[in-house]
Parts: sequence; structure tokens; C-alpha cells
Amino acid sequence: MASTPVNLQELKPEEFKSFLDSFDYVFSDCDGVIWAKTALPGVGKFFSLMKKHGKKVHFVSNNSLRSKENYEKRFEDAEIENGFENLTVPSIAIAEYLKSVNFDKKVYSISCPETNNMLKSYGYEIKEGPDVGTDYYEDYILYSKDDPEIGAVVMDCDFKVNLPKLNKASAYLARPEVYFLCGATDKYVYHKPGFRTLATGAFTDLVAEETNRTPVTLGKPGKAFGEFAMKRAGVSDPSRVLFIGDMIEQDVGLGKATGFKTLLVLNNLTVDMMLGHKTIKPDFYAQSLGTLVPQLELSFK
Ligand SMILES: [Mg+2]
Repeated sequence: MASTPVNLQELKPEEFKSFLDSFDYVFSDCDGVIWAKTALPGVGKFFSLMKKHGKKVHFVSNNSLRSKENYEKRFEDAEIENGFENLTVPSIAIAEYLKSVNFDKKVYSISCPETNNMLKSYGYEIKEGPDVGTDYYEDYILYSKDDPEIGAVVMDCDFKVNLPKLNKASAYLARPEVYFLCGATDKYVYHKPGFRTLATGAFTDLVAEETNRTPVTLGKPGKAFGEFAMKRAGVSDPSRVLFIGDMIEQDVGLGKATGFKTLLVLNNLTVDMMLGHKTIKPDFYAQSLGTLVPQLELSFK
């Protein structure tokens, strides 16, 4: 049974100092932690104070949808320096995974253009689509044919995911030697309290169930992704990492899988939602990163 999460804002100054002493690295999610539509209050200050306390800061997002320029602009608006240089996203992890297994076949990809471009930049040939299916089930036999040139199926965020693509992925994955890799696992994307939409993970789960295959998860909460982020940040001991996120399954789940300490910010969830999760509880929680700024300032004294 997981212990009750500690509200950081209720810690006495000396307790907050011991919390600060318990890690050397801060790994932070981006969407819902650093920015929503725009940068959230106090985030730039939070990370600059963490750096002043000697912490090394790294960012870990499931969102491969943003371009480099978009990420750079968002980090700049949030007053965070070198954000993009210290960012790990699934598209890079997927490409590096394929490289590590000396992959030399074609990839069938159900992903956004940014992920496909990343894979292409590593020299991989991508097959994708179709973006529109036909109106008769009889035609779907076309989408259930194997293609021996395909050696990997990649599923990351694709706004044009559809029945033909799911059938194609399932047909290729019937061959056990075909790699099954996924990026973002989020079943939902939260827009504001009470509003969410179905997302990538829901479709990956469908294919996994249909093919009886388990994907290698190169996005949160996959342990392989957590270890990949550690490697990029030069971390050897996961227990010296504080992972910050706004999602229980993805962020706290990744922390638990990899052995990080975890801090949940309640920008999109309530305390009851956090406590109501049956199996996953964060070690710490706070309303937002901005609310921790006064305690970080006080800890220098
Ligand atoms: Mg998030």
C-alpha cells in the first residue's frame, strides 16, 4: 500500500530543506506543469531557484507534436533557459531504440508528422496512412494484408488515426518479429477541469489487445523511456531524481516504474482524485510549481 502523499506546502522550513536534500535532479513534464495554453505563473522562477539550489533540470514530455521552434518559444515564454536542449520526447527515444537494434526494414507509423520527420531524420523509411478509409467493410480486406517489408509498427499521437490504420498495424504485428513501439500513452488529454478527450493510448491499447502484443513503451510511463531520459541527463541513481508531473498514470507512473521520487502538481486534478487512485500515489504534491516559490526562497536562509 502506497503511503499518503505529503503536501509540500505544509512542510516546516527544516522539513522542506530535507526534502530539497533528497534529490540532485529535477525532471519535469511540460504540458499541464509548465504551461497550459500559456506559461503558468511562477514556473520560470521555480526552475531558476531549483538550479540555484544546485539541482540539474531536465524536461520529459510525452508530446512529440510540437516542433523545435514551438518548444523553444514556450520555454522562452516561461522564462526557462536551455529548455529544448534538455528535453526528452518519445520521437527521439523511438528513433534511438530502432538504432540500438540495428533496424534495417521499413516502419509503419501511426504518428504525427513531427514524429515521422524525426524517424526520417535518422534515415528510416516510413509507410503511413491511409488518412481516409472506404465505406464498405468488404474493402477492409485491403487493410488487413501483411507487407513483409515492414519490420516495425510505431504508434504515437496521430489526429487522423482510423480503422484502416488500426487494421494495417494489426496485420503487420501478427508476425512476432515485427517491433511494436509506442510513444505517448495518454488515454486522455485534459483541457480544463471536467473536460477531456480520448487520446493516443486508447488506440494503442486497441491494437495491443487485438494482436496480443505488448508494445515497448518509449513514452511515459514506460520504464524504458525513464531510463532513456536518465541516460540523456547523465543520471546513474534514479532515487536522486524528483519527477514532477500533472498526471497520475503517466507522470507518477513513470516515476514509480523507474525509481524516481514523484511530485504531482494539481493543475488539472483535485486532492480527492489523487487520493482516489487505487494503485499509484505520488510521494509529494503541491497546487502548482509557482506556489512552491516562497519555500524555495526561504530555504537559502
Ligand atoms: Mg502533463
